[in-house]
Amino acid sequence: MTLYARSDITQVVVGATGCRHAVKVKKDGSHERLVVSCAVCEPLLRNDPGWSPNPADVPLTVDEQRAAEKAREQQLVMLAGAGAMFGQQAAGLASNPQFLQALQALAGGQSLPTPPIAPSSN
Ligand SMILES: [Zn+2]
Repeated sequence: MTLYARSDITQVVVGATGCRHAVKVKKDGSHERLVVSCAVCEPLLRNDPGWSPNPADVPLTVDEQRAAEKAREQQLVMLAGAGAMFGQQAAGLASNPQFLQALQALAGGQSLPTPPIAPSSN
């Protein structure tokens, strides 16, 4: 089985086995995630909180947690703004007689149901 390390773990020395696994650090200081596929070390690292058998489930560092939280907050703000804009546009369309006529024409002249969004009063 392969284990993936938290991003701040660049090497591991498993004392009981005498094994050492390390990433290759590039000239700019960056490195790939440490991945260990060692039948000897894997059972000893499997329950360590810094490791996961699934790369998507590798725990985040404190800095990564903060960045993820910040990104989530920004996404919520953007979604709320987009939702408000969509609501205003939908309300505007629902009260636009030309749009309603065009929609009715597309529906083959059938009468349209009452719009689910009430036109805005402003
Ligand atoms: Zn090993």
